Amino acid sequence: MRYTRRKTRVVRIGNIKIGGDNKIAIQSMCNAPTKDAKKTIRQIQSLQEAGCDIVRVAVPDRESLAALAMIKKQASIPIVADIHFDYRLAIEAAKIVDKIRINPGNIGGEEKFIQVLEAAKESSIPVRIGVNTGSLEKDLLQKHGKTAEAVVLSASRALMIAEKIDFRDIVVSLKSSDVLDTINSYRMFSERFDYPLHIGVTEAGPLPIGAVKSAVGIGTLLAEGIGDTLRVSLTEDPVEEVYIAKEILQGLGLYPGRVFVSCPTCGRTSPNIIKIAKEIEAKTRDIRKPIKIAVMGCEVNGPGEARDADIGIAFSKEKAFLFEKGKIVRSINPKQAVNVVLEEIKKLNL
Ligand code: SF4
Repeated sequence: MRYTRRKTRVVRIGNIKIGGDNKIAIQSMCNAPTKDAKKTIRQIQSLQEAGCDIVRVAVPDRESLAALAMIKKQASIPIVADIHFDYRLAIEAAKIVDKIRINPGNIGGEEKFIQVLEAAKESSIPVRIGVNTGSLEKDLLQKHGKTAEAVVLSASRALMIAEKIDFRDIVVSLKSSDVLDTINSYRMFSERFDYPLHIGVTEAGPLPIGAVKSAVGIGTLLAEGIGDTLRVSLTEDPVEEVYIAKEILQGLGLYPGRVFVSCPTCGRTSPNIIKIAKEIEAKTRDIRKPIKIAVMGCEVNGPGEARDADIGIAFSKEKAFLFEKGKIVRSINPKQAVNVVLEEIKKLNL
């Protein structure tokens, strides 16, 4: 199957563009308290180092709003203010950040929603209309329940209001904690609208279940060409969200970073492959340029996979063989495997 991206409108968020043919951006959300600007800035830096393109911060109160200016000044990736219930916070935040995320279902009605959109227009920033099955309008819930149809209808209502005031600088998300509902909502929406989509399975849980649910939901949509930005929502350190997001994109050939291959281990495995593979994987996560690394446990499939990698290692009973670009370079002591592989990768200056 060839990957064909759905055509969406292009929206600028700070210094990056999403939608159209622009790269699929990775988002995450700080869990440091926004009112603690220093802590939030440190977390944004860690997220950026991990590969995060856009970061969202919660703005639940005036103290958080007061910290936004300092956070925005220090951050070199776009900042999105996440606001619920109090439309006045959204109006103020629009003067500071690169994007506002609101849920029209809890911002206080049409008039207040319009005021937020007008504020965004004034600052030339986009708004993410984030519909969530947890906060759908009562009439939609009564008629359709927590279904994909209800989610898409809720988003359609918000879009009609925005279009009435000629505001189209919009990104849409349609979140549910149910993977199939999530997939169906985005599919349905994509057939009707061309607004760029922020995709993800909300409240996916801690690792590993959150990663699995996200990979199924986000991966299915991406494979169908749906999705312009994504977030993996985990009950974890948000840096993990970025690593999982990169792996999902990588699995579909949509991220130009490291490809990591290691064998599943079996009764033939001689050294401690699990420990070795985990260590090499963890220490090469931040590589952003294309490289394929293989760590293989024995001579059955080892040489074949290691040969296909840029840097590969295949173990035998007493030795390990280092491969580079398809050729055996030398045999090494298995105890030195991690260090040797990491040194060879370092020499490539990635
Ligand atoms: Fe088993 Fe060898 Fe395959 Fe690893 S590479 S799973 S050790 S047969």
